[in-house]
Amino acid sequence: MGIDCLEEKFQRYRERHPENMDRLRELAEETSDVQARVRELMDAITPELCSACIASCCKCMPVDGWFTESDYFLYRMLHEAPLHLRRHHADGRSCTFLGDTGCVLPGAMRSFPCVKVNCKMVAEALETNGRLAEFMKLYDEMSRLQEEVWPLLADCLSPTIMQAQQL
Ligand code: SF4
Ligand code: SF4
Repeated sequence: MGIDCLEEKFQRYRERHPENMDRLRELAEETSDVQARVRELMDAITPELCSACIASCCKCMPVDGWFTESDYFLYRMLHEAPLHLRRHHADGRSCTFLGDTGCVLPGAMRSFPCVKVNCKMVAEALETNGRLAEFMKLYDEMSRLQEEVWPLLADCLSPTIMQAQQL
């Protein structure tokens, strides 16, 4: 979903549900802690792997970074709207958050699909350096956090969207 649309939804949600903001912030802080640990795992392998990749995942149509309501609302609890961070890419396929040296979003707060879903090469590299189990634990933590966010957003998510967001 596009960021402009998500930002409008977030503003409406914030007005309608001030009672949920404290819990949403707590979940955002937990998410950021977990994502920082994932980032540390990835920083050990992705600079070499991704610089040699001929089919970069960030250049394969991830519209505005794959954000959906749940991760975008968490993002907004800790950061300003990332509207000004967007870049135009002439190829029409690259993510708007892809900068000259990689993703321009904070390393500890990206959409769940960007952090949870890995290509085969990354999975193999994690296995080779003995950190796949550690990643899987963090993956499960992120899934738990998603499940805690969804009930708070019940009046703006359809069951179909909730299923799709399980990535
Ligand atoms: S994560 Fe995998 S698919 Fe994406 S750029 Fe790196 S090596 Fe390529
Ligand atoms: S990691 Fe960053 S650049 Fe890559 S798809 Fe996600 S938001 Fe876009």
